[in-house]
Amino acid sequence: MVQKDSFEGGAFHPGFPKGKSSGTLYVTPSHVKFTGTHGSFDLPVEGVQVEEGGASDRLVFFKHPQHPGCSIYTDDKSVLDHPSFRHHRGMQGQKAAIVKRRWLGRAVVIGVFVAIALAIVGLWAAKGPMVGAIARQVPAAWEEKLGELAFKQITTRARLVEDPALQRQLEALTGPLVAGVKSERYKFKFHIVEDASLNAFALPGGTVAIHSGLLLRAERPEEIAGVLAHEIAHVTRQHSVRRMIETLGLYAILGAFFGDTEGLFAILAENSGALLELKFSRDAERDADEQGWGSMLAGDINPRGMITMFQKLDQEHEELKKKAGALGKLETPGFLSTHPHVKDRITQLEEKWTKLGKKEGYRTFDLNFKEFQNTLRSRLSQQPPAPAKGKK
Ligand SMILES: [Zn+2]
Repeated sequence: MVQKDSFEGGAFHPGFPKGKSSGTLYVTPSHVKFTGTHGSFDLPVEGVQVEEGGASDRLVFFKHPQHPGCSIYTDDKSVLDHPSFRHHRGMQGQKAAIVKRRWLGRAVVIGVFVAIALAIVGLWAAKGPMVGAIARQVPAAWEEKLGELAFKQITTRARLVEDPALQRQLEALTGPLVAGVKSERYKFKFHIVEDASLNAFALPGGTVAIHSGLLLRAERPEEIAGVLAHEIAHVTRQHSVRRMIETLGLYAILGAFFGDTEGLFAILAENSGALLELKFSRDAERDADEQGWGSMLAGDINPRGMITMFQKLDQEHEELKKKAGALGKLETPGFLSTHPHVKDRITQLEEKWTKLGKKEGYRTFDLNFKEFQNTLRSRLSQQPPAPAKGKK
């Protein structure tokens, strides 16, 4: 292999016009020479210093203490392998330093990328806890307001059964359940909606609505308590608030996290209607079942009611599916449209039931259940005509 002695490059020299010149670098056994358009000069190999420089350290500079202000450079780094430098004192060390710096530079770049990637992964992983932390910072009054806004939208198209006697009977049923709820943050309000579908839903702040269909389908008060316990848990665990915050995206979340809570509320209030179509994740449903189950036990209510009511809901769903199959379409009704995976959840609750030792001695309700249902049935028939559906 023929050793290359000349390299394209340039030089700085106080004698050059504007101090610099492009040209060619030559390596001889004794000198590093420069010949360019504006002049020539040499630097002795003995004592020459090498440095990297220029954008991204693309260039190699030769300097010499005896020639201050002068330097010769090239972007051809193979110049460092020239035999003239082989026995040069210090050159090998300088070369090694350059190589080391180059690797160090790469390591820093890689390190920064890894750190950014980790930060993104970390943020993603922390999203759940962060959403939870923000939700807990939302004042209870806000949640109430949000719930009211959403409920107002419901009452424009649904009809409430408002009867003081019924309400008192319902309280006999819900009272022990609410007593078993650990959180004191919410005041629960229960409304009966005239609707034959088996459904119930809860809004942030503690507004809970129960369809008359569900109340009439239940065979025992514990069955209603079971569904309500689940709904109450959606409130105390702030599932809808969390879900709303999640859908707002990381920017709004970070804003709220660092104090812009007014902005967050404005957005939440604007989207309160979305609360009515919110679907919870499987995890949120499981969580509501768990918490609800706990509230039932804390209120000394037989939690079996939760299981048998879910079975009724599932059974109803299957029947409707069969009918819909014949018609070729299925609109998932009521509770199941907003509460999926009911079969899996029944299985999980059955496991809890099996583990639970106590099977007797649960509370009885201060309520004649059949009479309650009869009163409700009679009130339904007494209702004035329902407002036309579909109009908002
Ligand atoms: Zn649910």
